[in-house]
Amino acid sequence: MSNVFKGVEPLVVKSKISVPYHWWAGETASAFFIKLRDEQKISGTWCAACKKLFLPPRKTCPLCFSAQIEWKTVQPVGTVTAFTVVRRQLAAMPRKAPVIYAMIKIDGTETGLLHILDEVKPGDVKIGMRVEAKFAEVRKATIFDIEYFRPAR
Ligand SMILES: [Zn+2]
Repeated sequence: MSNVFKGVEPLVVKSKISVPYHWWAGETASAFFIKLRDEQKISGTWCAACKKLFLPPRKTCPLCFSAQIEWKTVQPVGTVTAFTVVRRQLAAMPRKAPVIYAMIKIDGTETGLLHILDEVKPGDVKIGMRVEAKFAEVRKATIFDIEYFRPAR
């Protein structure tokens, strides 16, 4: 090893890099997000063998691994099964704090969908609260095509 740098203090350069990227969402996520964007419909995947509907949708059944899944549209209503309130503004947050993140079990499904709750005060959110999706006016085939969930009317 060379002694050229012996005694030289390490120089730290501070900078930022930008790495634009694109990737294919995959067959299952593409079908889910396109239906959400174009039809404002939430759909999950049904395993006939297990008699369970999964949302977010899965390419194969996570229980029996069967690839014999069928798409089913669900009503955009469900129940809050867990939630948290983030009061500190963080760079990655999609909106201004406080933000209520909730796990929502859409009616008829077996799994939870993590999303934002709005039109309710943080102190008024309850486990078991019935909520409905509020779809975004401008949809871009992302999970934010559901702008947020709100108390069911
Ligand atoms: Zn199954």
